[in-house]
Amino acid sequence: MDSLNGWIQKVTGAGNKNSSSGSEGSSQNSSAKKPVRNNQRKTDGAKNPPRNKQQSPRDGEKTPNRRNSNPRNANPRNAQNKTNQPGKPRGRKPAGQRGRNNTQNVINPNAPAFQKRLPERKNATVPSRPQPRLSASNIPANRKQRPRPMLGKISREVSSRQFPQHEKFPKGDPMRVIPLGGLNEVGKNSMCIEYKGELLLIDIGLQFPEENMPGIDYVIPDLTYVLERKEKLKAVLITHGHLDHIGAIHLYIEKLGFPVIYATRLTKALIEKRLEEHDLLEKVQIIEVDPKKPESRFDLGEFTIEYFAVNHSIPDSAGIYIKTPAGSMIHTGDFKFDLTPTDGMPCDYAKLIKFSQENVDLIFADSTNALKEGYCPSERNIEKNIGNVIREAAGKRLIIATFASSVGRHKAIIQHAVANGRKIFLAGRSMNDNIRICHDLNIINVPASAIRKLNNSVNDYRPEEVLILTTGSQGEPFAALSRISRDEHPHIVLTEEDVIAFSSSPIPGNERGLYTVIDSIYRKGATVVTKGDIDIHASGHAFRGDLKLMHSLVNPGYIIPIHGEYFMRIGHRDLAIEDLGYDPRHVPMLENGSILELLGGVARKSKQRIETELVFVDGKDHADMTEEQLKERLAMSEGGLLTVLLELDKETKKFKKEPRTFAEGFLENKNVHGVILDQVKASYGRLLDKKGDKIVEKDIVTELTSHLRDELLMEVDREPVIQVLVTLS
Ligand SMILES: [Zn+2]
Ligand SMILES: [Zn+2]
Repeated sequence: MDSLNGWIQKVTGAGNKNSSSGSEGSSQNSSAKKPVRNNQRKTDGAKNPPRNKQQSPRDGEKTPNRRNSNPRNANPRNAQNKTNQPGKPRGRKPAGQRGRNNTQNVINPNAPAFQKRLPERKNATVPSRPQPRLSASNIPANRKQRPRPMLGKISREVSSRQFPQHEKFPKGDPMRVIPLGGLNEVGKNSMCIEYKGELLLIDIGLQFPEENMPGIDYVIPDLTYVLERKEKLKAVLITHGHLDHIGAIHLYIEKLGFPVIYATRLTKALIEKRLEEHDLLEKVQIIEVDPKKPESRFDLGEFTIEYFAVNHSIPDSAGIYIKTPAGSMIHTGDFKFDLTPTDGMPCDYAKLIKFSQENVDLIFADSTNALKEGYCPSERNIEKNIGNVIREAAGKRLIIATFASSVGRHKAIIQHAVANGRKIFLAGRSMNDNIRICHDLNIINVPASAIRKLNNSVNDYRPEEVLILTTGSQGEPFAALSRISRDEHPHIVLTEEDVIAFSSSPIPGNERGLYTVIDSIYRKGATVVTKGDIDIHASGHAFRGDLKLMHSLVNPGYIIPIHGEYFMRIGHRDLAIEDLGYDPRHVPMLENGSILELLGGVARKSKQRIETELVFVDGKDHADMTEEQLKERLAMSEGGLLTVLLELDKETKKFKKEPRTFAEGFLENKNVHGVILDQVKASYGRLLDKKGDKIVEKDIVTELTSHLRDELLMEVDREPVIQVLVTLS
């Protein structure tokens, strides 16, 4: 095994590994040097081509009909359009055509290949790396001709026809708003605001992984654009303390040069907790903002910023108003309207009206529940129902499962529990941390002795004296509730004397795991209470009624749906157009990386966009997982791994020993090994005949991987990752 360097190539049966096939995961090649990566940029997390998602034609923005695009009709501020004819937007298209006719592709004009009208992608690959042979059919469509984009760079949208100028865009310095995450997904929210080169960043959140991301802890937004301009970053403004808004701060704050963070009281405490865990707290300045105080309005350079209180499932949630000489905007954060909130802080209606009087050009609003009719139920109703559940469980031990982040709910549960003579035992670290913080801030106001961490002392109390508050309401396999249901918890054994209440709704995709947990609980004879029995969960996100109220109070020039999957944002867009009478051109659909420019009351989607991609965080907060590696991991999980080991004579290049094959995760049938070995020998023999001792490693790897891929597909109907290792001695 003396000369493995550079002799290792892995390919999946599914496609070309053209950029950065690592050699990790193989026991045979631990001494192998890692191949040089194709680094066209040196950024801090992200190294791979953009996600298909952002390149595919998902953008539903309408291309307005030029003939109808009279600029006077287009502006909802125009009296004719909005005031005199409510509900009758001009230039509307038939519903069937809406959101279907836009293709947003990404091309990097800086790439040499682009200037030659997309020829072969020579400059996009590492020349020294062997390339497996590919048939046209197994190259993913997006890879065929596209040059590798420069992440964080501004690039040109493919077709300027998508951006008809229906209102004359004034000359001058526009304010630019660039969502960097939170569109196309629920999570990893982040948005950049730019004016005359100065930047603000709103939220730096994380997203929990989807099913097709095995081994990934979370996904974070790609802030390359901001990192490259970090000396111009004035501050990071945080809306509230949920992880999809604060969860990636600790991964970026140092790289951003420790900008000042602004946050409300609880949000600040939750950020501090995370920074402390990563030894960063000392270096970061977090300024507390109280939306009720006049200081909640402040200036940073050319930006005027004002925080305002909103209702949500966590106390101290806020929206943010931002004004520059070019125009103004509101970012709602996550919000709903709750006239009877349990945390005592109603949404600040007066401020919304004040902003409206000052004129709001753009509103960026939460779309999570934009398909739900009516108004989001008040947390007060839920609180009453929780009280009933706790009373009705008299004489029994009670376990309530909820989200660790639903701090408002915890408060209600804990206060009712104390009132009913129960002690609260907290299971799950995040639950424990959040509740401790809220207790310290007096948001949860009960004697400290009433709350404790779940430990064996719980068994010293009679069942009716105990309430266990736990995570695991989504059936997460390692959460305390799942372990309890499987009899694997060190302190809790379920009996018929237990009542388990779920104060949450299953997030789509989590149902299977949750049902498994509920089934196991029933098998122990315990009682289960879910939302179907009594309503003990309310969403924290605006329903359609709340959205209409927000937009009516603020009366913005443009409505931009953010936060949510594409279909949710389309629902929000339709609401603006059909229910509120907005001209479709005033409800632009953006993507992560889109640039919206605003000046003099006119907004337009720029012909440019910022290249972004997914940044995966794997293991212990290392953001160095590339999309290629993730695809490889998926391919391995589906097809297994085939390793072929060739030991050759360094002079004659003939086999020094019999070739060997190792299969992981497939190939129970021993005969197949024989077939593969025969193919290896035959294939290598042909190559040797052709090239003689001039044969180079690249040829061997390319030939064998390609040949074996076809063979395996025929023999075992599998497409494993194929790894060819060659040694010369
Ligand atoms: Zn939230
Ligand atoms: Zn959120």
